[in-house]
Amino acid sequence: MKSTHIMAGVMGWPVSHSRSPVIHNHWISEYGLSGAYGLFPVHPSQLEAAIRGLQALGLAGCNITIPHKVDAMRFVDWVDPLAVRMGAINTIVVQQDGALHGFNHDGYGYVQSLREAQPNWQADTGPAVILGAGGAARAIVVSLLDGGATDIRILNRTLSKADDLAQEFGMAVRALNWSERADALEGAALLVNTTSLGMNGESALDIDLSKLPISALVSDIIYVPLETPLLHAARLKGNTTVNGLGMLLHQARPAFHAWFGVMPQVTPQLKNAILATF
Ligand code: NAP
Repeated sequence: MKSTHIMAGVMGWPVSHSRSPVIHNHWISEYGLSGAYGLFPVHPSQLEAAIRGLQALGLAGCNITIPHKVDAMRFVDWVDPLAVRMGAINTIVVQQDGALHGFNHDGYGYVQSLREAQPNWQADTGPAVILGAGGAARAIVVSLLDGGATDIRILNRTLSKADDLAQEFGMAVRALNWSERADALEGAALLVNTTSLGMNGESALDIDLSKLPISALVSDIIYVPLETPLLHAARLKGNTTVNGLGMLLHQARPAFHAWFGVMPQVTPQLKNAILATF
């Protein structure tokens, strides 16, 4: 019989910086549930054993974070087709029969964060410029394509990684040289930074925004600091900006729903609880 005390957590290496326990434990308390969400520091050499142990320990599932998001796919019994296209999982849900199912909610979280700023936002509004071609960029490309985007321009320091995405995802996705980033903004409806540039402790993203239309939404998936130099410059220019906190909070919602049976909401109280950890 399934326990009414529900446990979940996040596996990463290192994992102590993760804000996921704050998010999920906030919701457990807010919705009056019995359960707990913990941190699991899992060394890469122990990943398979840790994942296979979820069911034996009676956990409802777990989140998967850096550096395990790609490797974890090999150790679950089924991977959601969306996560297959994204090439990574960030959530495992233990099924009633003990099978382990893998999902990726990063793209969902990203789109929801844009909708928080602009409720009617649509991926097919116009060209999207993506800076970076790592794991997060890949999840965002898939979500934009599924939303109907027909012109996605990817610029990455290492061109070959942007080329790989363009080859894999077809005509709607183009790889451009990193040095072309200012010109690539012409006519864009969305600009998103998925590189680590602008994060606390890293150098700022160096980009001239003069060709970016004022109507473009500018987002940065970094959330420390909340306003990166890119968002600061875009806000001064008059563009609507979206920081990375919304993506972090919204990606957690479908996982919580799968484990705890409640689709939780992102509230100002939750945002304050996270901001208090910075
Ligand atoms: P990743 O796979 O390691 O990709 C990192 C990207 O940053 C690559 O495109 C890399 O370019 C680029 N980059 C790193 N240093 C650079 C530099 N000095 N100049 C230019 N480009 C540089 O990482 P990821 O998982 O995609 O995560 C990327 C960022 O998103 C991180 O800051 C992470 O914290 C954030 N993130 C936020 C959320 C959220 O919920 N808000 C979720 C996921 C990730 P190369 O290919 O040339 O190395």
